[in-house]
Amino acid sequence: MVENGGAEYRFACEECGESLQVNNAMRETLVENGCVICSASVTTAEFSPE
Ligand SMILES: [Zn+2]
Repeated sequence: MVENGGAEYRFACEECGESLQVNNAMRETLVENGCVICSASVTTAEFSPE
């Protein structure tokens, strides 16, 4: 599979219910910084492959 920066995962925040399509880099950012909507901490368990 070619790394093209497109959406690779679906993130569903357990705290605020926000659902986003993210790529691997965005996933790592969310896990490090928390949810962009509610700032809740995020774990890799909250991502599922697209
Ligand atoms: Zn959230």
